[in-house]
Amino acid sequence: VESQKSDEEHEKHEGHNGSGVELLCVVRNLLKKIKRRVLVGDKVLVGSIDWNDRRGVIENVFERKTEVIDPPVANVDHLLVLFSLDQPKPEEFSVTRFLVEAESTRIPVTLALNKAELVDKETVSLWKSKLRSWGYEPIICSVETKTGLDSLRFSLRDQTSVIVGPSGVGKSSLINALRSEHFRFGPAEVDDWPNSISGSKWLEDQRVGEVSARSGRGKHTTRHVSLLPLSGGGYIADTPGFNQPSLLKVTKQSLALCFPEVRKILSESHPSKCAFSNCLHLGEPGCLVKPDWERYQYYFQLLDEIKIREEFQ
Ligand code: GDP
Ligand code: ZN
Repeated sequence: VESQKSDEEHEKHEGHNGSGVELLCVVRNLLKKIKRRVLVGDKVLVGSIDWNDRRGVIENVFERKTEVIDPPVANVDHLLVLFSLDQPKPEEFSVTRFLVEAESTRIPVTLALNKAELVDKETVSLWKSKLRSWGYEPIICSVETKTGLDSLRFSLRDQTSVIVGPSGVGKSSLINALRSEHFRFGPAEVDDWPNSISGSKWLEDQRVGEVSARSGRGKHTTRHVSLLPLSGGGYIADTPGFNQPSLLKVTKQSLALCFPEVRKILSESHPSKCAFSNCLHLGEPGCLVKPDWERYQYYFQLLDEIKIREEFQ
């Protein structure tokens, strides 16, 4: 839905970086009644716009492409898994767990290795070739020496991204390094606002926008999440995501598909399916995935973990 304001008026209200205008909005009562939560990153229909006070009412929430729970952000289209090459050193099984958790969201995943200045070239090459064999082309970076940051900006451009990874690898430092220097932090103290603004003038004045404000996880655990515009285009959540993969969304059957190297084997085979539709690739007759890939041991270990969890559910 497009605003019925004239182009001229639109321009008048464009933000400093041409990405739109910031409005302080309340959520329409009706949406609250049907328990439609508004998340940061949501595409919403805004009505009753007061252009002078820059206020509006969120009238509707459009269908989400994706929904990340930690941090709560809608329409994330890229997950950046961050590890560091040293302090702490990457550990293969831990990297695998994070990658599997990220892959299980079905959101495209990029892997980056930070603190490159702490290790020698050989260590970097070893990790690069290992990760390539796992199906990833890692971005090597250092927030400290500002290397690799342009590659990251390029990889994150024009998308909404969340950074995940264990603690201490430099997620917060990276978010700070990537955020646009021109960005003025948003004002939205939404919770202090009255619950509804009366009158439904919205049909005359409505506009599709993206929510970039503040979101809560229940009354007592309110957590601020904002989407920061990146200097290379796109947005990044200002809060790092999960740093302890729970694998709760991963099932015995979906686990193998969280490994790009297995997806590759299957997609390159004809037919592209094992003989048994519920094959777990543990040597069943007619299985296309032979146990000769490097991460098979980790697959096996995670499968065990999931089996135990499923038994107790
Ligand atoms: P987070 O827990 O993943 O958010 O990690 P932080 O951003 O808090 O960083 C943890 C520590 O690593 C801090 O002391 C940072 O200054 C440091 N750090 C971040 N990036 C680099 C880097 O590229 N090189 C080095 N040597 N230290 C870094
Ligand atoms: Zn199989």
